[in-house]
Amino acid sequence: MERWEIGDSIKLYGIESWGAGYFSINKEGNLIVRPTGEASLTVDLREIVDTLASKKVSFPILLRFTQILETQVERLNECFRRAIAEYSYEGKYMGVFPVKVNQNRDVVEELQRAGRKYDLGIEVGSKAELLAALATKGNPRSLLICNGYKDNAFIDMALLASKMDRNIIIIAERISELKRIISYSKEIGLSPGVGLRARLYSKGSGRWESSSGEGSKFGLSASELLECVRLLSESNMLGSLRMVHFHIGSQITEIDRIQGAVKEAGRVYAKLKRIGGGLEYLNIGGGLGIDYDGSRTSFDSSANYSMQEYANDVVYTIGDVCKNEDIPSPIIVSESGRALSAYHSLLVADVRGKASFNYKSDNLEPPEGASHVVKEFYDIWKNMNAKNYREYYHDAIQQKEELFTLFSLGFLSLEDRALGEMLFQDICRKAESYARQFNHIADEFISLRKQLSSKYIVNFSVFQSLPDNWAIDHLFPILPIQRLGEKPTVYVTLVDLTCDSDGKIDRFIDIRDVKEMLELHHLDDRPYYLGFFLLGAYQDAMGDFHNLFGGVNEVIVVVDSSGDWHIKKIVPGDSLADVLRYVKYNRQDLENSFKTIVDKRISEGLAAPNDADLIKCEYVKMMDRLTYLES
Ligand code: PLP
Repeated sequence: MERWEIGDSIKLYGIESWGAGYFSINKEGNLIVRPTGEASLTVDLREIVDTLASKKVSFPILLRFTQILETQVERLNECFRRAIAEYSYEGKYMGVFPVKVNQNRDVVEELQRAGRKYDLGIEVGSKAELLAALATKGNPRSLLICNGYKDNAFIDMALLASKMDRNIIIIAERISELKRIISYSKEIGLSPGVGLRARLYSKGSGRWESSSGEGSKFGLSASELLECVRLLSESNMLGSLRMVHFHIGSQITEIDRIQGAVKEAGRVYAKLKRIGGGLEYLNIGGGLGIDYDGSRTSFDSSANYSMQEYANDVVYTIGDVCKNEDIPSPIIVSESGRALSAYHSLLVADVRGKASFNYKSDNLEPPEGASHVVKEFYDIWKNMNAKNYREYYHDAIQQKEELFTLFSLGFLSLEDRALGEMLFQDICRKAESYARQFNHIADEFISLRKQLSSKYIVNFSVFQSLPDNWAIDHLFPILPIQRLGEKPTVYVTLVDLTCDSDGKIDRFIDIRDVKEMLELHHLDDRPYYLGFFLLGAYQDAMGDFHNLFGGVNEVIVVVDSSGDWHIKKIVPGDSLADVLRYVKYNRQDLENSFKTIVDKRISEGLAAPNDADLIKCEYVKMMDRLTYLES
């Protein structure tokens, strides 16, 4: 076996570039997680997987490391603390977690708990998110920010809750919302916290660039901002205006776009502050990017800056504008969702074999009466070598055309066609492996490699677990969680369980490029698990039920101070009855109508009565099964 060290796997899969110190490989060749970021407190993923398998928790499994959430909260707050100290900024920093990024209760509650000492608040964008946020035990100093388009019920509830000593800021996205905020506040005798979302000229960068700037769906233009101020002033409520907010998109890939937007928003804040009112917060929204591919570039799945650089630029720019405008420095608020949650969860899914696209017989020699095309294929196959492989490969391509033409015209038997196809396939394989022996590989052989690459069938649904990979070509790190001390020798693409040709992954992260194939190991009779990393932001919230593959089993894992890991909680995935209920099938109705159909068949003599009980019983039992492949 070729020499291969663990360090080679770390490099090949870019673990140190995208892992933010949370992932590595141990000497057993297994992937490890460091939930607190400390090198001494590690969790061996293969050990967890074996333990869960022995407890009959079936795959795919989403592992949540809630301590990573805590570590990210600390890292973000510490970055701002350092920046504030470095630039002698006179205000402070307060984060809020935008729940749209991950509404999972375990995630939100852990962030609330971990963020208590930093006054981490919550941002909601809908009525349902508001109800969930109001019922979580928030620190009364922390902010609860209401964003998004709102109806009267949303606004009224937020205003009523403001009476309960919560630091709630309702952001007006439209003038009509502000009018309702004013009228209902008067009705209930409240001086609410109001924010205005500014529509900036500055644009973000990356995938959501086009949703920002002048044409953005959200925010108030300069004239609308002034009209809002007039309305507040006219109602004697200018003192309620406490926040200026903007958001120029998620995953901003270029730091200078952030600088530009912060500078513009700083000016908006300063001008409004001058008009009067109780302005004290400048909310810079989300956008803090995660370097999913580890390239530290402005590529869509990366970001060309670190968390510290982000904090430095924000603090410096706002401080500078405020000095220039001669106004007090605001409390800086950020709604960093992706940055807090992306690292904490990963999916482990088992590979269930290869999707074969051709059966290969052991004997490729054409029989006596075989067609001349097949015999020519055989000659090419037998005589191909490192010197002639290119020419012979081109000959084979021509022969292939002839093979199919002759078959269509009725001059070729099915047996000859099958043998010709098998020979052609093997000629391609041989040519590709000869090409690999040379330093320079021609493009045609690189494409050939992709064509010949194995497709590993993975027990998961792209649509449920990595929806952004399907919807917006977002790349996530993917790698085996075991055998990392062994050289991966096959190039593969991945296919999921759905009956959809889009249910595949054929683009993978790479420091310099995007890889079209992933290097993995040969499958043998041992289980082979893949890890899909950095899934904690947006993927839980946006996964769908294509083909009725449902939510997966979830497991929360923690590590204690002596380095022992524990399973804190197992949350079962959706059963078949659950996913059927989502599409409005009632379990009882289904069982009853299935029984009626079976009974009718029996009464008509079309099925044996002995089979009826078994069939009915199995139907009912199957309702409780999970939606993925079981062992
Ligand atoms: N704030 C608002 C208003 C948003 O719309 C979003 C998401 O797009 C966020 C915050 C979260 O952004 P991110 O996950 O990039 O931090």
